[in-house]
Amino acid sequence: MSILEGCRGPHKTPIPEERRCPACGEEVEVFTVRGRIVAESVCECGYVFNEKEPYVSPGLQKIFDEAKKRAEEDG
Ligand SMILES: [Zn+2]
Repeated sequence: MSILEGCRGPHKTPIPEERRCPACGEEVEVFTVRGRIVAESVCECGYVFNEKEPYVSPGLQKIFDEAKKRAEEDG
C-alpha cells in the first residue's frame, strides 16, 4: 500500500515508504518523493537502494559538484 498524499501535500517532501528488497525479500524503509527513492537505504542483507532522482535541483547539483571539485583540488 502506498501513502496517499493530501491534496495540499508538498511534492518535494520525502516520505518513508516500505520497499521490498529484490535480493532477500525483506521490507526496507526508504525515503521517496512521489514514489522515487531520494536517499540511499541499505538492507540488512547489504543490498543498496540507490536514489533514483537527486533531491536537489539540477542547478543546485551543479553548484554542489563544483564546490566538491574545488574542495578536492584544495586537498
Ligand atoms: Zn535484503
